[in-house]
Amino acid sequence: MSTKIKYMTTAQIREDFLEFFQSKGCKRYPSSSLIPEDPSLLLANAGMNQFKEYYQGLKTMHEVGACSCQKCLRTNDIDNIGDSRHLSFFEMLGNFAFGGFTKEQAIEAAVEFCTKPEHLGLPMDRLYFTVFRDDDESIELWQKYGAESSHITRLGEEDNFWAAGPTGPCGPCSEIYFDQGEEFGCGEPTCAPGCDCDRYLEFWNLVFTQYDRQEDGSMPDLPHKNIDTGMGLERIAAIMQGQHSNYEGDVLRSLLGVGERLSGKSYGGTPTGADRSLRIIADHSRAVTFMIGDGILPSNEGRGYILRRLLRRAVYHGRLLGIDGAFLTQYAAEVRSIMGDVYPALTENAALIDGIISAEEERFNATLDKGEALLEAELDALAEGADLSGDVAFTLHDTYGFPIDLTREICEVRGHAIAMDAFDAAMADQRERARAAANRDAWGKFNNVWTALSDELTATEFCGYDNDKIEGATVLAIVRAGESVSMAEEGDQVEVVLDRTPFYAEMGGQVGDTGTLSSDDVCVEVSDTKHHEGDLYGHAGTIAQGTLHVGDKIDAGIHVGRRELIRRNHTATHLLDAALKTVLGEHVSQAGSLVAPERLRFDFTHFEALTKDELERIEGLVNAKIFDAEPIVTKVMGIDEAKASGAVALFGEKYGDVVRVVSTGTDDPEAKPFSRELCGGTHARNTAELGFFKIVSEGSVGSNSRRIEAVTSAGAVSYVDERLAKMDEVAAALKCRPADVSARVEQLQRDIKELEKKLKAALTGGSSNKISDAVSSAIDLGDYKFVAARLDGVSGKELRGAWDTLRDQLGMASACVLASVGEDGKVALLAAGTDPAVKAGFKAGDIIKNIAPIVGGRGGGRPNMAQAGGRDAARVDDALEAARKLVEA
Ligand code: ATP
Ligand code: MG
Repeated sequence: MSTKIKYMTTAQIREDFLEFFQSKGCKRYPSSSLIPEDPSLLLANAGMNQFKEYYQGLKTMHEVGACSCQKCLRTNDIDNIGDSRHLSFFEMLGNFAFGGFTKEQAIEAAVEFCTKPEHLGLPMDRLYFTVFRDDDESIELWQKYGAESSHITRLGEEDNFWAAGPTGPCGPCSEIYFDQGEEFGCGEPTCAPGCDCDRYLEFWNLVFTQYDRQEDGSMPDLPHKNIDTGMGLERIAAIMQGQHSNYEGDVLRSLLGVGERLSGKSYGGTPTGADRSLRIIADHSRAVTFMIGDGILPSNEGRGYILRRLLRRAVYHGRLLGIDGAFLTQYAAEVRSIMGDVYPALTENAALIDGIISAEEERFNATLDKGEALLEAELDALAEGADLSGDVAFTLHDTYGFPIDLTREICEVRGHAIAMDAFDAAMADQRERARAAANRDAWGKFNNVWTALSDELTATEFCGYDNDKIEGATVLAIVRAGESVSMAEEGDQVEVVLDRTPFYAEMGGQVGDTGTLSSDDVCVEVSDTKHHEGDLYGHAGTIAQGTLHVGDKIDAGIHVGRRELIRRNHTATHLLDAALKTVLGEHVSQAGSLVAPERLRFDFTHFEALTKDELERIEGLVNAKIFDAEPIVTKVMGIDEAKASGAVALFGEKYGDVVRVVSTGTDDPEAKPFSRELCGGTHARNTAELGFFKIVSEGSVGSNSRRIEAVTSAGAVSYVDERLAKMDEVAAALKCRPADVSARVEQLQRDIKELEKKLKAALTGGSSNKISDAVSSAIDLGDYKFVAARLDGVSGKELRGAWDTLRDQLGMASACVLASVGEDGKVALLAAGTDPAVKAGFKAGDIIKNIAPIVGGRGGGRPNMAQAGGRDAARVDDALEAARKLVEA
């Protein structure tokens, strides 16, 4: 065991592996994105993902084989993270062949790469091999290339047989292990490769996909036998560096260093306690950085949820280590500095990665604080020694993101345990739901009608950039109720596939076209166009007339007016994107869009609400471009040239080798136009067609993105028309000119305030007390009751209201003389009496005529109601006294 192993860095191993297989005729492929092409797969989890179509025989590889270093993320290993060999994110070196080389050549090459001194140079006596139980061929081959028979173990189907599903491609595997030494073993006599202990470390798996399992269980050979191998780069790096865990290899060790620096703790190389937390943060922070770099954003479902979980777990372990405040971007910076040269997306998207990490971390810290408060309150309410309810623990986990060990730790400090049965039950439920939601099989599922059609048919040719209508297209397929049929009749709901079409199928946010497919005998009203696997366009609609057959020739025409509106709105999203970047900064990245005829919606990464001023500047920039009337130019070019010309690529989007580049003003690759994007959509010919651009709303979607809705051309006109019509309505209701509306409303608001003040006084302080005082001061004149009272601060009109109240309280035979000095110092007088009082001789008009002059006024009225105004406030009491005398006389 003393053999010296030469030291190689991770970077050296990666490069050496790829060059080695290139020298064997394999073409070197870059890693595909963590977001797989295959929609049924959540995250890239093996090197073979990007080659699936070669395995299925859908594509043919012209080279001998392929090799790559693939970014992988395995969610099923999350619970093992912190052990010495499982990471969430790791790099997988792999070589692949689809008939281009044989099993023997694969085994020979593996041995050569592992043992040749100019490559890994590992000693044969420390290498072990496992094979599938029945795979004698592999045993012979490993021996032929130098393995001792005592170093070869047969394993069962569970470990060493790979299958895409119950039927289909499958085959035996062979794994290569490195013996780390007896001291790492469990010491059991049965200990051998495949044992759970750390003595034998699997680092390379070779899968020989050679059979095609049938329904009846028989396994004929595949037409061509495939080779699919995967070597964990972190595992082999640790081996080459004389270390015994992934974390001690150069890459992860430097991330552990970041944690040591932040927490002041030093890493001791164990899988427990603070070491475990340091490991978990190192792993998760790297995964998070790569995921965001590939365009994944935190969310509550799918891969966004996994990202969120990893990020939160890292934050929580930071708390366990006692790290103060937000810290994760420091890890992201380290990841960039050690891996940015191999994975440029990390550096290109640095601002975005940091922005998202900070925003998410801040939010989670706030949630953690809240959850902690909730837990403390629950614990306060618990009897001594009682268990915390499993439901509370689950809520903390589910709503507040509290991992159970955090809850347990806090509980333990306070002398409580958790009712784990209830918690486990709730968790099992949730896992079941999650499992149903995500199909994690590396091959995904491929048995729907469109997958089948995409095998048979070539991609639909889109000729709608330059044509609104084409003649004589051929009907290639008709799909009705999820089935491919040869004909369909009047009234049927169908999706029709043509060889070529001017209809744009929904993609990149732009909605599908509508229109008609027609010939002399048939007419199909198309209400939507959908994009399916294999670039097949489904014209969805109803057969309005006739019978449609596969093979028919048909004319296809879109609704031109609708498409014109869509074109303009699509161009507007490009102008908006450029304006947002100018005003808010380069961290702005498109996160989603909808381009419809009536309006457009644009989601983008940004961390706070936009101010009124920012919105105005953005709108202004877009409108300035529209008024400049710049042509929109489109150029088809190679992806590298496109990127070099500064074209904005959609974050997380995959592009082919040849792309369309849409620019304002000029297609000169040297020029820097206002907007230049990779885009397959349809566009206005000139910015002037947009007429003008108006933002109608701005709001948040999730924690890291904002949404702008806007309109252009006809949509903008009807938006403004509607607004103005509303304005006219309001002005009419306010009885003023539209220009005076705000002044009028301000006046009304002042009036309301004033009235509210008076009402309050009337109901409380002021006159209501005075009224009840007045009631109690009433004198009984035999035939009726009479009140003379002073109610200052109210108007003449309000005096009438006061009389109404008095009359209610005094009864049907009553009369009054009321006086008030208003806020303006003027005097108001009122005399009033009910019919019985008038019959008994009360004459309101006469009284007022007599007393008004006392306060310097004049007035009169009918016997039951009379009013007067006056100026001499000082003599109000005299006037009242005079009235009293008159009545009593
Ligand atoms: P294990 O049994 O150790 O989990 P596996 O059988 O799941 O490994 P494969 O699916 O065969 O592994 O992947 C190929 C190689 O990728 C493995 O031999 C290993 O070197 C590496 N690998 C797999 N999973 C991880 C992981 N979670 N972290 C780091 N490397 C891994
Ligand atoms: Mg595994």
